[in-house]
Amino acid sequence: MKISYIKEDFLSLIWPRICAGCGNSLFKHENVICARCWMNLPRTNFHLLADNPVSRIFWGRVNIEMASSFLFFSKGNTVQHLMHCLKYKNNKEVGIILGKVYGYELKKTEIYSSVDKIIPVPLHPKKLKLRGYNQSEMISKGLSESMGIPVETEVLIKNTATDSQTHKTRFNRWENVSEVFALQNTEKVENQHLLLVDDVVTTGATIESCTGLLLTIKNVRVSLATLACAVK
Ligand SMILES: [Zn+2]
Repeated sequence: MKISYIKEDFLSLIWPRICAGCGNSLFKHENVICARCWMNLPRTNFHLLADNPVSRIFWGRVNIEMASSFLFFSKGNTVQHLMHCLKYKNNKEVGIILGKVYGYELKKTEIYSSVDKIIPVPLHPKKLKLRGYNQSEMISKGLSESMGIPVETEVLIKNTATDSQTHKTRFNRWENVSEVFALQNTEKVENQHLLLVDDVVTTGATIESCTGLLLTIKNVRVSLATLACAVK
């Protein structure tokens, strides 16, 4: 025990443990995110309201049972730093811990507690190799721990690279992503309520496409949970 403390102290001298939200040093009892950042996280509480800004993104587009996001994303805020750490700084713990805390909230609602399987939005194999992990899978892992619901990664898959989507119209973007997702082993989720999980929702194109595909499986219902959203 003592030796591990000494080792930890030594490691924090040469490689300080810092908060993924604000960059300040973490206290010994803190892990990944500091207490101050936890306290000030801009929570949406959208999971308590069926009619919320995230579910409205999909109105008239695809039939999502219940949609919500944990946090508000805006330029320069703590949430943006957290998402950046999760996606580009190899900090998968950020996804796991935020997913876990969000899961405790979701579990308290009737609709989310009826979920049978958690399905992360898949990452292209090439990107997966580059990043080393799928950020949506890390969030799903955390959600799974607190909700007690298994993660299913063998049904919704991605098989071709998506071009850069920045200069495309919404219609083209939909076409662009729709052709890259695919289904397999669908019998594993027939008759189930699935929770689709992504890191951030903006236009909703990717989620619309994944949900549309999942809804082709026999007697499936789809709900959505993302860590962050860029809506007001
Ligand atoms: Zn912090």
